[in-house]
Amino acid sequence: MPERRILIAGNWKMNERLASAISLAKAVSAGAAQSSAEVLVCPPSLYVHAVSEAVSGGAVSVGGQDCHAAEKGAHTGDIAAEMLADAGASHVIVGHSERRTDHGESSADVQAKAAAAHRAGLTAIVCIGETEAERDAGKALPVLSEQIAASLPDIATAENTVVAYEPVWAIGTGRTPSIEDIAEAHAHIRQEIGKKAGDAAAANMRILYGGSMKPGNAAEILAVADVDGGLIGGASLKAEDFLAIVAAAESVG
Ligand code: PEP
Repeated sequence: MPERRILIAGNWKMNERLASAISLAKAVSAGAAQSSAEVLVCPPSLYVHAVSEAVSGGAVSVGGQDCHAAEKGAHTGDIAAEMLADAGASHVIVGHSERRTDHGESSADVQAKAAAAHRAGLTAIVCIGETEAERDAGKALPVLSEQIAASLPDIATAENTVVAYEPVWAIGTGRTPSIEDIAEAHAHIRQEIGKKAGDAAAANMRILYGGSMKPGNAAEILAVADVDGGLIGGASLKAEDFLAIVAAAESVG
């Protein structure tokens, strides 16, 4: 039986200021101290160092929300994966739909960023997901196949990579796919990981669900066979809500 420890990851996006980021991180750290799930918070990159110091020695890990593909160079305003690692990050989200849309990132860009994460010793959380138009056109599964093939680096393993399935239309909207659709998408993604990275990766790589996960729906979603955790946006900004999702993970883990 593969051992896939549940991962509950909070994507704070461009929210919080220094003081509130530190108190949110400390509240999450205190509440998740005994959790059997792995717990991660991803603050704005400028606060990764302070948040890492605030939760140091506890059970919560810290990640970035994006990185550049290069190790260094003339890339004004960008941040290398190595810099996130220096600041205390252990993970980095790459390919979030907001990056793909707002910054025109292609799956090839995402693949290069995930490879950069691996180069720096970080776990890459690679986001994929169909738009509403693609789902309505019956193309959700082919889109996921294409994104897995093009976004995962060739050296992706269960140790250095996590996939996050985030239907674009479910992010921040309060809408979620049906449990059957989540189950179908995750099973399909696992099969596609196998084609790209082999049987061991398919069996052991964690696949998170993201898109309007909240305390009220977390237990049901996390109980789906191929769902190995959640990537949480809005509900990760309130310690109480995020910790309720961590608690839901305990009940199914
Ligand atoms: C996200 O942006 O990764 C996300 C899942 O957001 P929300 O939980 O707010 O839908």
